Amino acid sequence: MSRRLPVYVVLDCSESMIGPGIEGVRLSVGAMLKELRRNPHALETVWLSFITFDSDARQLAPLKPLDEVQTPSLQVRPGTALGAALRLAAESIRTEVKRTTSTEKGDYRPLIFLITDGQATDEWESALSLLDTRSLTRPANLYAIGCGADVDFFQLGKITDIVLRMDSISTDSFGKLFIWLTASVHSASTGVGDSAPDALLANLPTEVKKVDLSKTPVHDGRARQIFLRVHCQHGRGTYLMRYLFDERSGYYAANAAHTLTVESIPAGSGKSFRLPAVDSNLLLGIVPCPFCANDSAAGCGNCDALFCLSSSDPPNKITCPACKNIISRGNDRTSGFKIEQSAG
Ligand SMILES: [Zn+2]
Ligand SMILES: [Zn+2]
Repeated sequence: MSRRLPVYVVLDCSESMIGPGIEGVRLSVGAMLKELRRNPHALETVWLSFITFDSDARQLAPLKPLDEVQTPSLQVRPGTALGAALRLAAESIRTEVKRTTSTEKGDYRPLIFLITDGQATDEWESALSLLDTRSLTRPANLYAIGCGADVDFFQLGKITDIVLRMDSISTDSFGKLFIWLTASVHSASTGVGDSAPDALLANLPTEVKKVDLSKTPVHDGRARQIFLRVHCQHGRGTYLMRYLFDERSGYYAANAAHTLTVESIPAGSGKSFRLPAVDSNLLLGIVPCPFCANDSAAGCGNCDALFCLSSSDPPNKITCPACKNIISRGNDRTSGFKIEQSAG
């Protein structure tokens, strides 16, 4: 058997990836698998595994040869458990990758492609010693790719020297990123880049740039976007309202509403990952409910859930879609409701 090249693709599936982000990754992963399988050398050498993370990390399937890898079904959930994802990658490598011994040549050094669009919501520093990316005996070459405006590059720079940035989150840019990733896996499967991981960066698309870590400022910790989870008052579903930070004014402006599928909201998820509550006075505007077009939203005084509301014709009594409490008009908290952002 020829030497294997183990490849771990670690995907951030936090709520902020909802919309074009997760759609782009879904399409691109499928295209990547198809393309790699067309190459006989890759087919013989590359073994692949997907790890996804949100409020926790999971390995979708153990390391498998390319022709047995299934296209993962990806769902967004709250949370960015980067630490858990890194620990899981290190543990998978420890148990799945064959080391070189005095009598046998082991696998090629594994590649980890970490794709994230946010800041960790869990403890991640303790994972660094497990991956030890700057040592000669490092268990893997780790490429961290930060996508969009919310990435903490300072944090990524502590994890690895190879940090890439892709500013736009669109299906098109993810397509190009994965074309590069596919080509890199090709070259790596012939041994290129094992000791000089930068060799794989020669053909980066223009959308993706290597980050100069010596010039990366410490992140100010302020979220560049905020997600509010809102229930349709008519029980038609749940959606995320996306607010984008405006650097000039310091406010967050309503930008989009993304419907959540049932399977993307597991019971109890994200409870332990609440980010600090956001001052609702910093939020500007409301995006209409994507289910019923109600143009406003209010909070339930009993369970703090948000629900959509018609500003021109609010009903006298509302049953909270989350806790079923009856809310009479007058004691709802339509103005200045307490807002707890979803951890994405
Ligand atoms: Zn609605
Ligand atoms: Zn309620």
